[in-house]
Amino acid sequence: MKSSIRDILRNDGKRLEAALLLDAGSARIEVQCLLQAVLQVNRAWLLTHAEQPLDDQQQARYAALLERRLCGEPIAYLLASREFYGLAFKVTPDTLIPRHETELLVELALQRMPQLQKCRVLDLGTGSGAIALSIAHARPDAEVVAVDVSAAALAVAQDNAQHLQVNNATLLHSDWFSALQGECFDVIVSNPPYIAAGDAHLEQGDLRFEPLAALASGADGLRDIRRIVATAQHHLKAGGWLLFEHGYDQAAAARALLQQAGFAEVFSARDLAGIERVSGGRSSL
Ligand code: GLN
Repeated sequence: MKSSIRDILRNDGKRLEAALLLDAGSARIEVQCLLQAVLQVNRAWLLTHAEQPLDDQQQARYAALLERRLCGEPIAYLLASREFYGLAFKVTPDTLIPRHETELLVELALQRMPQLQKCRVLDLGTGSGAIALSIAHARPDAEVVAVDVSAAALAVAQDNAQHLQVNNATLLHSDWFSALQGECFDVIVSNPPYIAAGDAHLEQGDLRFEPLAALASGADGLRDIRRIVATAQHHLKAGGWLLFEHGYDQAAAARALLQQAGFAEVFSARDLAGIERVSGGRSSL
């Protein structure tokens, strides 16, 4: 007997719940997403065709995806897609999966970009391009430069720029500022790697499957943030802002680094969970 969509939602939701310790709602949504991807339908179709069985080919494709998810592979990699700031981004195992809390960084950057004049924004370590392309999409008049040290990640960001029809973003291969001699910006943003090497979180959940170079940053997780903060003022226009994401317990360290480097108006901002997630300051040079 072939399983109907209803059976699959009920049974496999429970399997995912147990295997990955998900709550029932999230597990059900994940099964829905896998089915939508295999059947190429939207959620409304799925829920109004609950009695329909899958054909053999669909069943085989679905079963393969479910098996991979049961082994912990991130749903975003299985679907090759993740929504961020209202836009659909392609993601692959070469890129970090964009997180919703990073949308705070986009908001803070958009608030600080000059309104009525030509404005340049730099995104350091762009990965899938989530931050840079969201900003470029929201401000088509701005010029956005996005860099990454990973050529494979840049290829994904390039695909995303094309797919989202963003024409005001330039993607460059660069180790932080290495390819940006003499370039100055109004706002520099970054969601750099910031987890301490050896941190137990690296062995948990989605992180196990994401590129380590996008996650881990030296013994205390601050190696890359230190580098960025030390150099950023050479690439900021007078009064320009540096804004970056960091770990849940790194806000005080981030503010201290910004102050030591001579930034003014140093601040940290809380994400929706109430965690200080982004810090920044203004160039005083
Ligand atoms: N800028 C990308 C993002 O926020 C990638 C960040 C990273 O790889 N550390 O999703």
